[in-house]
Amino acid sequence: MARMPALFIGHGSPMNTLELNGFTRAWRSLGEALPRPRALLVISAHWFIGATAVTAMARPRTIHDFYGFPPELFAFEYPAAGLPELAEEIAEAVKPRWVGADHDQWGLDHGTWSVLAHLFPKADVPVVQLSINALKPLEYHLELGARLAVLREREILILSSGNVVHNLRRIDWSKPDEGADWAHRFDDAVAGIMASDPQSILRIVEHPDFNLAVPTSDHFVPLLYTAALAGAADGAKPFLRGYAMGSLSMTCYGVQMEGLPCVQGDGAAALPQGVPGDQTNS
Ligand code: ZN
Repeated sequence: MARMPALFIGHGSPMNTLELNGFTRAWRSLGEALPRPRALLVISAHWFIGATAVTAMARPRTIHDFYGFPPELFAFEYPAAGLPELAEEIAEAVKPRWVGADHDQWGLDHGTWSVLAHLFPKADVPVVQLSINALKPLEYHLELGARLAVLREREILILSSGNVVHNLRRIDWSKPDEGADWAHRFDDAVAGIMASDPQSILRIVEHPDFNLAVPTSDHFVPLLYTAALAGAADGAKPFLRGYAMGSLSMTCYGVQMEGLPCVQGDGAAALPQGVPGDQTNS
């Protein structure tokens, strides 16, 4: 059985769910080119909690985990099924690491469905989410990602959803399609490591722009799973690049997607007025 690719998607504003722009069109084309998996395992920046867990419900609910967005976004539903037996397979695959089965707490958050709305618009592939354990160091996530690699042999497509550069306090509304100099420097450095030696991705914490690009780890950690899955031989290549609002990079990576040319995206959805507020985590 063929190994499934693995992906990292820079998701940006939740409004990308509803918009057709240079990024979401590229996600749609990618979805049409992907093999059909048995299920998707998604690591989203927005399930960032004090434990390692996987969703284990048959019908995960669509969670609208934000505020200040228009009613159309709160009305959006992504009705994909879950796959409870995959939770058991994951628990087995990551041993001796422990992962709990979530039967009734989470579901699918916007880090997942804002992307899947375009990649798998029919919502006809089961989806399971893996939480990001916020209490663990970066090394833990790289190691856990490597343990998940076996799932690629079992028709599971592992999709990470975050943003390599994500600093909501540095948003520049006058630059809808541009990144600040420091954002470019950091994003380029990450691309270099991901292509040549993804398993050494944690070298990037020494980069002079790390603290600006990664003020909190939630949107960065999903990349570590893709880096781990890329393994020593393959590398992970960007297939879509671009920036939004000065301080977000929209770069996306594919593992085992060699035929895909790298295109430049533009027109990423903006955040609504008043967002981010003081506590937002979009
Ligand atoms: Zn986000």
